[in-house]
Order: sequence, then structure tokens, then C-alpha cells
Amino acid sequence: MIKENYEQVKNETGDGVKIIAVTKYHTVEETLKAYAAGVRHFGENRIEGFIEKRAALPDDAEVHFIGTMQSRKVKEVIGDLHYLHSLERESVAKKIEQAGQHVVNCFIQVNVSDEASKHGLKPEEVEAFIGKLKDYKYVKVIGLMTMAPNTEDSSIIENTFKGLRALRDEIAVNYPEVTELSMGMSNDYPIAVQYGATYIRIGSKIMGS
Ligand SMILES: *Cc1c(COP(=O)(O)O)cnc(C)c1O
Repeated sequence: MIKENYEQVKNETGDGVKIIAVTKYHTVEETLKAYAAGVRHFGENRIEGFIEKRAALPDDAEVHFIGTMQSRKVKEVIGDLHYLHSLERESVAKKIEQAGQHVVNCFIQVNVSDEASKHGLKPEEVEAFIGKLKDYKYVKVIGLMTMAPNTEDSSIIENTFKGLRALRDEIAVNYPEVTELSMGMSNDYPIAVQYGATYIRIGSKIMGS
């Protein structure tokens, strides 16, 4: 099942899009099945899950941290942390810098749809935040991340993804190294890809629910 699901998403999205299989609700055994099916990018949103899946997976798998990161937790994962999709606080960046281990590729999480319940910076705050990080040696901002509202109304979803792309383009004038867009989940990834997603984060659609 995982193999068929992954193949299907891969065929639908094409080569330019990296598929992150989100394994947060799944066991190590199921995660290894995804690896056997060809998945090389995995997503976890909790420290424990990140550590557990990282330890179980072969070295050529990349485990992305996609959940909220607390600065006091950075030290628990920094050795294996190469992709962080949820940077929104300078305190977290400072801890990465202090650890001084290796470059962490970061996405700034943006609350494009302005939902009160959502994490992320407001779009108008993002460029100044990136500016604060520009002399950090170990924090490399490579892109922006967002989550669309959970709605049937595809125009709201489209506006969210379009908004993140427009913000990326605006920021790229001063920060051309900010190129990536982490957007799209099981219910909305075809729309995200249409609007330029370079990383999609897929849980149930690949791993099952
Ligand atoms: C759980 C999760 C996903 C995947 O959700 P699905 O709807 O199962 O595809 C993607 N991104 C983040 C940040 C998540 O927490």
C-alpha cells in the first residue's frame, strides 16, 4: 500500500518536487516500509519521534523536523537536524548557532492565511526576521513553509499557496538564496504543486490513516 501510494504521489508531482513522508502517526516498522518503497525524505513533528525514526533509518534517509521547535529542545536533536521547516523564533536560531555543529537548512514558517490557531510569522514580518539571521553561520534559510486552512474551499487554499510563492519572490530580491517552498499536505498537495511547491509533506496519503 505504502509503495503504491508513494508511486502515485510521485507520478502526480514530477521530479522537481521532493516528497516528505510524514511518519508521525506511524511505527518504525511502517517507516522502514516507506524507505523500502523508495522514500528518502521523512517528516516528524515531535522530538521523540524524530530521534526514534532517525535511529532506525539508514544514513541516506533525511529526517525533516516539521513541528514546533522549542529552543530548549534543540540540543536533543541538533546532531541529526539538517532540515527544520518551522523556524519562527530567533531563540531557536540562537541555539542552533551556539551548538555550532553543521548548517541547518531552515524554512521560515509563515501564517499566510492569518488563522489565529496557526503558528508562523505574519507575511510582513518574514523579511526582517531573515535579515536578523543573515550573519548566522549555522542557520541557513533556504525557503518558506506554510499550512493551508483545512477547508473544502479551494480558492482559500489557492490564495494561501499563491501568497507564499509571492512572498518568496518578493524576499528573493534581497535574499536570492531563499528559493524553496514547503507547502502541501495529503488533502491539498496538487494545488500546492501547481503554485510552485518544492517540498510537499504527505502523511496519510502515503502512510495510510
Ligand atoms: C501531520 C503534518 C503533515 C501531514 O499531514 P497529512 O494531512 O497527513 O498529509 C504535514 N505537515 C505538518 C506540519 C504536519 O504536522
